[in-house]
Amino acid sequence: MLKCHFCSKMYPEAILKNMVQIIDNKAYIIWICPGCLPIVNNNPNYYQVSEPKSSPKINNI
Ligand SMILES: [Zn+2]
Repeated sequence: MLKCHFCSKMYPEAILKNMVQIIDNKAYIIWICPGCLPIVNNNPNYYQVSEPKSSPKINNI
């Protein structure tokens, strides 16, 4: 079980999503639950961790 970075609830690791948070030009790995994902997706300080198989989704940095 891991804690969601946003709502601080505990979730199984399998359903949490890895995200990168940018603070002062440093990247931190955080965990986000599905419920908080829309909030994070609208926040420019957070990025999805790109998966090797998929093409890059972040083109507008
Ligand atoms: Zn959450």
